[in-house]
Amino acid sequence: MRLCYFPRVKLCRGFPPFRSVCSLLSVSEGPTRQVVRMPMLAMIFIFVSSLSEAAASIPTTCQVAIAGGGLGGLAACAALRQRGIDAQVFEAAPALLRGSTGTGIMISANGFSALESIDASLPDKMREIGARIVRQNIHVCRQDGKQLKELSLDSTVNFDRFGADQYNVAWARAHEVLAATVPEEYVHCDCKLESFTVSGETVDIEFAGGHSVRASLLVGADGAGSAVRRMVAGEAACLTKYNGQLLWNAILPTARVRAHADGEVEYYTCGADGQVILAFDAGEGQTSWYLTILEEHAPPATKALLAEAAAEGTVFGGFGRHGVKDELKQAFAAWPVAVELLEATPEAQIFERRLCDRKKLMRWQDKSKRVVLMGDAAHPMVPSQGQGTMVTWEDAAELAECLVARAGAGPKGPTSLDVPAAVDTFVARRAKRCAMVQKFSRQAYMGRPSPTFYPLKMVSLTRSFRKISKIFGYKS
Ligand SMILES: Cc1cc2nc3c(=O)[nH]c(=O)nc-3n(C[C@H](O)[C@H](O)[C@H](O)COP(=O)(O)OP(=O)(O)OC[C@H]3O[C@@H](n4cnc5c(N)ncnc54)[C@H](O)[C@@H]3O)c2cc1C
Repeated sequence: MRLCYFPRVKLCRGFPPFRSVCSLLSVSEGPTRQVVRMPMLAMIFIFVSSLSEAAASIPTTCQVAIAGGGLGGLAACAALRQRGIDAQVFEAAPALLRGSTGTGIMISANGFSALESIDASLPDKMREIGARIVRQNIHVCRQDGKQLKELSLDSTVNFDRFGADQYNVAWARAHEVLAATVPEEYVHCDCKLESFTVSGETVDIEFAGGHSVRASLLVGADGAGSAVRRMVAGEAACLTKYNGQLLWNAILPTARVRAHADGEVEYYTCGADGQVILAFDAGEGQTSWYLTILEEHAPPATKALLAEAAAEGTVFGGFGRHGVKDELKQAFAAWPVAVELLEATPEAQIFERRLCDRKKLMRWQDKSKRVVLMGDAAHPMVPSQGQGTMVTWEDAAELAECLVARAGAGPKGPTSLDVPAAVDTFVARRAKRCAMVQKFSRQAYMGRPSPTFYPLKMVSLTRSFRKISKIFGYKS
């Protein structure tokens, strides 16, 4: 009876508990052998039984398989399940919730419209964890820190213009809200997609560790480094385009440093191209801060690390590089607010990265139209406009709408999905808009100097105003 569990374990060899079982087995040498044997067997039985249950809970078929359990994959799963479609999430990480990402995100009106369409309970749940933004203060400074002017913008006008207030939330809390919306039996961790094969009306998806699932549709929601994008669109579509800017960010209790008032955003341009300080209320007593500098103006130690990473072909960035705090304190010495934020933040919680995106992709589906991309996998963007998640949630809502519109109705929910037609409609609706937001995010990078010649300045402002209206005013 016990033996029959072992083939199951083999299927799941990526599970960390399996590695523990192996190491326990290897203890059975030497004089202690008899002493440890019985309890060891009992422990193995318990371990293996629990592994068997975990493996058994991973389905072998579903209507829609979603690779990636980030902000997009979970939203898509919620939207599809709301409409009676059997969607399941397959996430590479061993655990779905991974704690702080050091990031606060802005939920604008288009995001609320998408959330409403995904699941009508979501907008209020996000508002509960967020801060309603009432004011944005823009400080225009010289390189020596002297403030030249300050603009104070009333953010409550967003409600009249676009039908929703802006709320800022911590990325990790938004992820938790989405995770709580999708029942956990439909989310499978430790399932890293490795390949897929389409045959006829199904797609077989293989995960590291040997498990596989057969679905009518595979959704690649596997983020900016998407493996599905590589398989759908090829290597050339996966070249990283750096925008030449470095970003440091963290999230910390507002009680530790008062860089903004409740419900407010403070934005400082520092007199040098691409150099800004941003601090905002991220809800639940948290402050989210960002510092940016152009790579060419980066502190010498950072530049050296960038060059090293480029020479070795490795990725620059991550949490908690030793010495980063001192370098940033020097680079932002003229702005007390930046120095205070840095002093209040443990170095291990500062995330640094090179900002980048990829060239626009207009075809998100493979030839069979049974595999489609969404979110950062389809349109990774520079976070200058705070729109990455917003357009990802729009994707989630519209993918679900397109699938339902093309499905036959059965007693337990939509049946006989016309996947290829739905996928074509979805991409036709989404690709152009997302390419526009991606391009605008790249062009209007944080701290881009506005033209000094007045007529040009007005043209630039009017263009930005129009783009922002188009982005925020969109209804899913
Ligand atoms: C500093 C910063 C600030 C930002 N601010 C904002 C903001 O204010 N507003 C906004 O709207 N957006 C913002 N964004 C963008 C936002 O974070 C992303 O656009 C959003 O997370 C995209 O969701 P996603 O599901 O496509 O990708 P992700 O959330 O990255 O999720 C991808 C998931 O796929 C998993 N995965 C990867 N490979 C595989 C595989 N092979 N198999 C299975 N699973 C896999 C990953 O582990 C991950 O869980 C910001 C981003 C950054 C970096």
